[in-house]
Amino acid sequence: MNSEIRVRFAPSPTGFLHVGGLRTALYDYLYARKTAGKFILRIEDTDRTRFVEGAAENLIQTLKYVGLEFDEGPDKEGEVGPYYQSLRTEIYKKYIDELIEKDAAYYCFCSTEDLDKMREEQKAKGIDPKYDGRCRKLSKEERAKRIDEGNPFVIRLKVPQEGEITFYDIVREKVTFPWKMVDDQVLIKSDGFPTYHLANVVDDHLMGITHVIRGEEWLSSVPKHLLLYEKFGWKPPKMAHLPLLLNPDKSKLSKRQGDVAVEDYLTKGYLPEALLNFVAILGWHPKGDRELFTLQELEKEFSMKRITKAGAVFDVEKLNWMNGHYIRSLDLIYIAEKSKPFFEKAGIDITDKDKYLKVIANARMRVSKLSDIIEQSKMYYLDMEFNEEAKKIILDENSQNIYQYWIDELQKKENWSKEDILELQKETMENLKIKGKSFFVPIRLALIGAEHGPDFPAIINILGREETIKRFSKVLDLS
Ligand code: GLU
Repeated sequence: MNSEIRVRFAPSPTGFLHVGGLRTALYDYLYARKTAGKFILRIEDTDRTRFVEGAAENLIQTLKYVGLEFDEGPDKEGEVGPYYQSLRTEIYKKYIDELIEKDAAYYCFCSTEDLDKMREEQKAKGIDPKYDGRCRKLSKEERAKRIDEGNPFVIRLKVPQEGEITFYDIVREKVTFPWKMVDDQVLIKSDGFPTYHLANVVDDHLMGITHVIRGEEWLSSVPKHLLLYEKFGWKPPKMAHLPLLLNPDKSKLSKRQGDVAVEDYLTKGYLPEALLNFVAILGWHPKGDRELFTLQELEKEFSMKRITKAGAVFDVEKLNWMNGHYIRSLDLIYIAEKSKPFFEKAGIDITDKDKYLKVIANARMRVSKLSDIIEQSKMYYLDMEFNEEAKKIILDENSQNIYQYWIDELQKKENWSKEDILELQKETMENLKIKGKSFFVPIRLALIGAEHGPDFPAIINILGREETIKRFSKVLDLS
């Protein structure tokens, strides 16, 4: 492989794509685009106990939906596939043999009970629980005997017991870990599958990954990974660990304080454009005060130098503001398309295209989520019910006069432009000697069933001639 930059997003399909995962994927993608490199998707599905059926497909679909197209990955084979780790298990065997050969890894026959007991004893002595390395000492013969007897085993990494490791992370800069904090990591589990650590390192190497950009929770794995690179004699990729995402109370972002699945945000009516923009600035500081960026703009502006160390607070209010901005400013047809599922769900017939577009053009000015658009639109579609208070206003003589006047005048009118309607309003107020609220409230009640709402030339424009007159006639006949 040449000097091309290759960045991977390596999710484990254990559930839906988390907003933190979306941010990692975005930064991976942006760095690849910025450097004209490659963005690779690798599904890390070797942990069969945490595997969730359909999660990988769902994840791929979500990434595509938000517009993070990968250059290589499942169904987009490059030269270094397969891109599902579960299809690569044969590959890892060779490497684990190599580590054993080099005395960098060893067989461990300790049972769960042994390990529990060890942990309890360590705790009682006030020592941080960690594998004590007892199986390191088994002789070759003992090891062979136990394997022959069919004893279950795992294979562990032989971590130095003294000293420390220092490495350079693009975000955290110089990082040091004492080796005694690092466990003899299991590399092959008793089911024969590799753990994340082995598969991840082997694949990053075989896939020519030059930059590992991922969440801060993986920082403490780096010593084990670097030890593996060293034992294999491979050059490690550059690392960048992204700051944690926090709840407003500064605790680690969790489901308890709101949604964390990207899919939940999408179904609630957040636009991919807003979600991407929002997560882009969670941990990355653009130059100046600017906050609004399209994906194309991010591809140019993004730089790893401006990733921050401090945790980034996930502020839903800001997301709402951004989403509202995109709902109002993106192409109307696009917003109308994205809103369709909400109308379908509400059982509203939107086959009249012209009317639908007018409804969306108006309603989008008042919402910050697409799911709220129904609340701002249903009055143009559904039959109105009036409560007693509304009925009282409608049946008032003053209101009835207005309704009759408007039906007569509107029927005569050729043009129904905004100016025509405002002219009619002025004329009605003068002729019927009515002012302010006494005019607006009955009109809005008749047209949209509520006292407050959009200005009524806009309402009439959306409803159209027939429906407007029908609604005025309805309140005239109300009993
Ligand atoms: N499979 C790991 C995860 O689920 C990937 C961590 C990494 O990028 O190395 O987050």
